[in-house]
Amino acid sequence: MSRELTVMAVHAHPDDEVISTGGILARYAHEGIRTVLVTCTNGEQGDGPGGVKPGEEGHDPRAVAEHRLGELRESAAHLGIAHVELLGYRDSGMDGWPANDHPDAFSNAPVEDAAAKLGKLMEHYRPQVVVTYDENGGYGHPDHIQAHRIAVAATERTGIPDKLYYGAMPRARMREMFEHMRALGADWADAEMPDDFGTPDELVTTVVDVSPYVENKIKALRAHASQSDGAFLLRLPEDVQPRVFSPECFTRHFCRIDAPDQEDDLFAGLRA
Ligand SMILES: [Zn+2]
Repeated sequence: MSRELTVMAVHAHPDDEVISTGGILARYAHEGIRTVLVTCTNGEQGDGPGGVKPGEEGHDPRAVAEHRLGELRESAAHLGIAHVELLGYRDSGMDGWPANDHPDAFSNAPVEDAAAKLGKLMEHYRPQVVVTYDENGGYGHPDHIQAHRIAVAATERTGIPDKLYYGAMPRARMREMFEHMRALGADWADAEMPDDFGTPDELVTTVVDVSPYVENKIKALRAHASQSDGAFLLRLPEDVQPRVFSPECFTRHFCRIDAPDQEDDLFAGLRA
């Protein structure tokens, strides 16, 4: 009997699942493919009630985590994700924050140990396709970098995934998004995109149309209402949102099956 088609997305915080992979998870769930989301931290360093930041009065990391895990369940329901698995590490916060030094912070966990935990989940679900961040964690957050490291290590140690992908932000698309953001005015009027921002367009191997699932992504993003991070995307004009939320793009890092160099499907080469 052939293995049930399964995709596993490895993310750092509750809410990271939406922007870069919400569409593929919704689409593959709709196609009957098993979807697994692994969220490595509890999101303790996110915004507290009323947008209060870590270290400020009224920010209780434990309460923030509990609230965010509730939001994660709601988001996952909007995206049709079948299985949400929590590794339970403590959110390390942004690079340079005092939370970086907490002994339980995800970024301080030995890669071997965390990869062993993730490897157990890979052994359980046996995903053909695994998706995570690039070596820079997309934008340098220590937990995203650590998620990348353990996903790579668990892929190597288990030998289970056939394909490993990193989320990509193609430069041409990012440039377009900066233009839309500037058009919003206010905080973004002077937003300039650094030349080296995003993924060089020629490195992108896989572009997946998720346009039928843009509404699911928007609902999932709204479910993370306590967090201001992704909220600016919800303020983009309605006619612009579909262009920003679809397609979702990836670079294929590892592939041990026959698949075309340029793909429009993470399961290219894996379907009967
Ligand atoms: Zn994150």
